[in-house]
Amino acid sequence: MRLTIALLVTTVVAACATNPVTGKREFNLMSEAEELAIGQQVDAEVRREMGVYQDTDLQRYVSDIGMRLARDSHRPNLPWTFTVVDNAAINAFAVPGGYVYITRGILPYLGDESELAGVLGHEIGHVTARHAAQQYSRQAGGGLGLAILSIFVPQAAPFTDLSSMGLGILFLKYGRDDELEADRLGMEYAAHAGWDPSAVPRFLSTLARVDAMSERGVPNWLSTHPDPGSRVGEAENLLPTYATGAATARNRDEYLRTIEGIVVGDSLEQGIVRGSVFLHPMLRIGLDFPEGWEVFNSPEQVMAREPGTQHYMLLQQVDQPRGRGIEEVAQNAMRSAGFSRLDGAPARVGGLEAYIGTYRGSVSGAGRVLMRAAHIAMGRQVYVAAGFAPEAEFDRVDRVVEPAVRSFRELSASEASRIRPNVLSFYTVREGDSWQSIAQRAGQGITSAATLAIMNGYDVSTQPEADERVKVVVGG
Ligand SMILES: [Zn+2]
Repeated sequence: MRLTIALLVTTVVAACATNPVTGKREFNLMSEAEELAIGQQVDAEVRREMGVYQDTDLQRYVSDIGMRLARDSHRPNLPWTFTVVDNAAINAFAVPGGYVYITRGILPYLGDESELAGVLGHEIGHVTARHAAQQYSRQAGGGLGLAILSIFVPQAAPFTDLSSMGLGILFLKYGRDDELEADRLGMEYAAHAGWDPSAVPRFLSTLARVDAMSERGVPNWLSTHPDPGSRVGEAENLLPTYATGAATARNRDEYLRTIEGIVVGDSLEQGIVRGSVFLHPMLRIGLDFPEGWEVFNSPEQVMAREPGTQHYMLLQQVDQPRGRGIEEVAQNAMRSAGFSRLDGAPARVGGLEAYIGTYRGSVSGAGRVLMRAAHIAMGRQVYVAAGFAPEAEFDRVDRVVEPAVRSFRELSASEASRIRPNVLSFYTVREGDSWQSIAQRAGQGITSAATLAIMNGYDVSTQPEADERVKVVVGG
């Protein structure tokens, strides 16, 4: 009896921790040791799934700023790390234990170093105030079975979990109170380290403009840090508290020098999406997804979806292909994914040896589906290009899926070498320029006038001034 009570007391005490920011005791399902363990696990996933952006100077610059903020935060002793991930979305996120990430995609939208400090400070705030830990506790139900990021489970089931699409639990959605507290902490940490805290309402304004023109379905800052527009005013109200004479640094020139030349949009390492065409110059492969489908590109898989439907396509490498000849490889791969073959035949796809079949199986999130899959041998690799839909809709969808899987091709060396990512550059505005004319100078389809305005801290309806040096996106 006594033992039972003692155990109960221990459990309750362990589950109740002091919030480092508020100083209040609160119920929390996660201890600091658990936070650290989860952080390590998720960090490995993030690095593998998103990739770290290869730019040593930029990484060091971001890390130095993050460390200056974190050292004076409410939890200075966490093993803080700050990483720029190779992702085109406009995002920043934090994982329990002190792991903070920003995408390279957010960098063109920040005006100077103080805005970068504000974003990092905001994410540090989610960790120090234990928002991240609380969200993980809630979303994982305390069980911490983190099936994050893994739409791609080698061998077991290559495409059976659509629900984790969009990086699932990694992108924690915070409530409004958590956001306001993180904004406040971001201002406090930035000002304390000498940066101008008015950066926080400034980048919130930028995010509100992005929000107004954002694409649907892409996980970004806005889907996880809601409602930036209404937070601008709240942050501005806090300025008198934090804007002291010492907190004035903006360091615009140094910031712009550091981000000059960074990749904007897709990178060569991850392949490039041009409309509905996917091109991977390093793997030397290309595929035309059906017209109008949205294409999502991650390092391990390319997925496309007909908007608003359960019609999907994907392209990926077959992990450790088994079998003599492409037909046996296809059979083994599909069987281990839980699919049974209805029909199939050897084929040539882009001159390569292939096997094209239709299969029946289940995909979680989409239920029972029919699938058209082409397994294609290219050198030592086997690729699978597949499209699937609920059984009743398959015949119609197959009319666009079948030509799409057959469009797989090997790129020639010269074709691959002509593919270049877009990069960030600068331009000095001349008399008579407009965002439209500046966007047109860069070339067709590279960037829109609205995007350029927002990147430079302008409202879409306001034109730049002559002699101002503005950020532009140029073809590589
Ligand atoms: Zn946030």
